[in-house]
Amino acid sequence: METDLFIAGKWVPASSGSRFDVLDPATGDTIASVADGGEADAIAAVEAAAAAGPGWAATSPRARSEVLRRAFTLMTERAADLAKLISLENGKALTDAKGEVTYAAEFFRWFAEEAVRGEGAIATAPSGANRILVVRQPVGVCVLVTPWNFPAAMATRKIGPALAAGCTVILKPASDTPLTALAMAALLAEAGVPDGVVNVLPSRSSGRVVSAMLRDSRVRKLSFTGSTEVGRILLAQAAENVVNTSMELGGNAPFVVFADADLDAAIEGAMIAKMRNGGEACTAANRFFVESGVAGEFARRLAQRMSELVVGPGTDERTQVGPLVNEDTVAKVDGLVRGALDGGASAVTGGSRPAGPGFYYPPTVLTGVAADAPILREEIFGPVAPIVTFTGEDEAVRLANDTEYGLVAYVYTRDLARGLRVSEAIEAGMVGINRGLVSDPAAPFGGVKQSGIGREGGHEGLLEYLESKYIAVNW
Ligand code: NAP
Repeated sequence: METDLFIAGKWVPASSGSRFDVLDPATGDTIASVADGGEADAIAAVEAAAAAGPGWAATSPRARSEVLRRAFTLMTERAADLAKLISLENGKALTDAKGEVTYAAEFFRWFAEEAVRGEGAIATAPSGANRILVVRQPVGVCVLVTPWNFPAAMATRKIGPALAAGCTVILKPASDTPLTALAMAALLAEAGVPDGVVNVLPSRSSGRVVSAMLRDSRVRKLSFTGSTEVGRILLAQAAENVVNTSMELGGNAPFVVFADADLDAAIEGAMIAKMRNGGEACTAANRFFVESGVAGEFARRLAQRMSELVVGPGTDERTQVGPLVNEDTVAKVDGLVRGALDGGASAVTGGSRPAGPGFYYPPTVLTGVAADAPILREEIFGPVAPIVTFTGEDEAVRLANDTEYGLVAYVYTRDLARGLRVSEAIEAGMVGINRGLVSDPAAPFGGVKQSGIGREGGHEGLLEYLESKYIAVNW
């Protein structure tokens, strides 16, 4: 496959000539080397996106829609190869990678359908003096920065709406997983995306490259998915040129189980909310709050299910949990678990890093976790479930909201009124009631508090790439 930069429809080496290695998380071995984009390449990509902008914005919505629809078809036809590539560079189990390809392709189909649903508004001014006409226009050149945990889906969730709206883009993928992004570039070109409309720029110096693009006044939008820490830095940089921003940041999801819940459903939901993607998801359940009457049984049953999972290389068909993406991630997970154990928690299953090559961590369930343990404050991003008990609805809501994050929450109860009441009281952009999975291309995904600004997916996802222009008309 191509491993150079993709700029203005061509594969080009980095202007410095440098390259960087991509590692297999199952072994730590090098699997490929990729062109390492620098600041000059970033400006060349902005140049290409700016030059392609007017033509793409003027392309009919139907034609833009059909390009996205072809991208969906191609992705679906090549799902098996793409899943293998994702699994190779990210480490996730093939079943997770296949799920990601389906989810990622769906953003192309959804936004192919949204592309032709452009709408504005017309009203009479309250004074009666004139009409108020509102038209929606593409924001312009967009810089898209994505993380390694869903290398395909986080890219399509941005490229789909941007292209549907008539914007041109530069995608800067995570340096741990650039191969999937490069495969997407080739696929989009084959689907008929004109030269310069989508540019892909892998880089090991992400900070410098993204800053250079944000300083270029032709860039009008930054859509970022990644950690809250980097999001804060980029928000400050975007302020310089007052660049429009969408921020999908970290999460610290509470998973609340009331004593009246269907425990079978709660365990199934917990396995999905915790173990999808091996726990490396911003939506991953990070804190389990279980009402005291059922906490013992919940912990025992969850630990049983977690201990039965098959851990191994992601590309092995039998694997249910692959390695984590890199050494830093596994060291962080290990540190958080050790901290919890030192603070008095017990590991019902798992709890220590195995010896040997690869970035593996075993599925782990912790009970008796101290209220001030860092594992309850920070994103774990691994297969670890800390359980805390509570009594009553007020305490559940207080514990759930005791975090700077507000991406998603899960609530299990048989009482629908309580489920809805608690959903409204929890400070989160999304809530799953009796469901461990909320992500859906047709729904607005995003967080409140320090989990982000803006929404991706649904109709809202398209609006992030459009500006409203108001025209006052006399007629
Ligand atoms: P990250 O370290 O914040 O990196 C995300 C992206 O930003 C990568 O492409 C990275 O490039 C780049 N980057 C890093 N430092 C930068 C800087 N100073 N300036 C510009 N770009 C920079 O996050 P990650 O570790 O890849 O991903 C995990 C995080 O993403 C978690 O916090 C997770 O919750 C969050 N996430 C959120 C959502 C959501 O929708 N809310 C979805 C998925 C993941 P390099 O790879 O080269 O460092």
